[in-house]
Amino acid sequence: MFLQNQKCVSLISVHGDPSAEIGKEEAGGQNVYVRQVGEALSRQGWRVDMFTRRSDPDQPAVVQHNERCRTIRITAGAQAFIPRDELFEYLPTFVQGFLKFQRQSGSQCRVIHTNYWLSSWVGMQLKKMLPVSQVHTYHSLGAVKYQSIPTVPLVASTRLEVEKNCLETAERIVATSPQERDHMRSLVSTKGNIDIIPCGTDVTHFGSVSREEGRQKLGIAPDKKVILYVGRFDPRKGIETLVRAVGRSSIRERGHLKLIIGGGSRPGQSDGLERERIEDIVAELGIGNITQFPGRLSPAELPNYYAAADVCVVPSHYEPFGLVAIEAMACGTPVIASNVGGLQFTVVSEGTGLLVPPKDDAAFAMAIDRILMNPDWQQQLGQSARQHVEEKFSWDGVASQLGDLYLRLMESSKVTPVSA
Ligand code: UDP
Repeated sequence: MFLQNQKCVSLISVHGDPSAEIGKEEAGGQNVYVRQVGEALSRQGWRVDMFTRRSDPDQPAVVQHNERCRTIRITAGAQAFIPRDELFEYLPTFVQGFLKFQRQSGSQCRVIHTNYWLSSWVGMQLKKMLPVSQVHTYHSLGAVKYQSIPTVPLVASTRLEVEKNCLETAERIVATSPQERDHMRSLVSTKGNIDIIPCGTDVTHFGSVSREEGRQKLGIAPDKKVILYVGRFDPRKGIETLVRAVGRSSIRERGHLKLIIGGGSRPGQSDGLERERIEDIVAELGIGNITQFPGRLSPAELPNYYAAADVCVVPSHYEPFGLVAIEAMACGTPVIASNVGGLQFTVVSEGTGLLVPPKDDAAFAMAIDRILMNPDWQQQLGQSARQHVEEKFSWDGVASQLGDLYLRLMESSKVTPVSA
């Protein structure tokens, strides 16, 4: 039965489980986006079902986040971690699982919002079978990603084709920044309807801790200059550039510098080739004594780290949006980021931090020194950063823009919505 009279949306995120532990394996910005958008929409009266793939037999099939918002895990392929590049063959099973769940639960939403190209394929299949409107957020574009990696995966041509079909056929595409929209237009297709609605962050959670408190909790002395990275261990994230920049920084000799590389698994656990590669470079540069790898940082710990840092560095080669940059800015910490993708939209160079060319460790080193050597300017940048995020990137604001978009689609398909 269709929920004709309800504000109701299905968020589909095949590989990005909104209930997963963030920062591990492939869990990152997409998981955060889906979970936060889902919960914020539910606070605004929407009924939200978030569909994802079950990747562990111990995971519950349904997680109820609040009265109106739940995660639903569909079995498609082994109930184990499967890298996203190997998931395509399981998507038809995912579609069947989605339909079965809806039949059994007796409810269907008129709007589906798909996330990442894998889910876009699922959405396009569902549209053939159900009277639903599709909204899609890419999170990452194959056409951009494949420009920056030496060997493309086997699934590349399928991904590019699916991304083009989706752009041309979905009712609305959500680009999270003007830069992402421009990439869609120049590299994917000139057809299709694109709206720009940014990603958001929890401005109450991020910004709840002062610099002094953060440092106290983490046992960091007030005279230390702290440089922070937060994110996954993936070559695209450019951690190597940061590490090499710290190796060059002229502040390093003064012995006050501390580099914290947060994310990945806890110390002692294996975290794949990139983690080992970065640790080798740290050792080669002789900065092991000032570098710390605390592993995955929980949502409760993150505000302490961001607040304790003098600067947060986002050295990605490419970043469609980059949640870490706005989280750090919300905590009043200036951001030095690569001058790419969504980071150009979120970080105001010379206003809330600095933008520098990607992969250029000399430029990153200079930017780090500039900010760390000018504590007054650092403080000003941090204050403006907080203000900038409050004004532009709160999740409630993002969810209400998405909610308006869904309502417009429901209205154009002649459904009259009322609050759930
Ligand atoms: N994250 C986290 N703990 C970690 C590392 C990352 O909670 O140890 C979160 C981080 O706070 C952010 C997300 O993972 O919300 C990463 O999103 P981003 O858009 O920066 O990068 P992506 O992973 O999507 O490439």
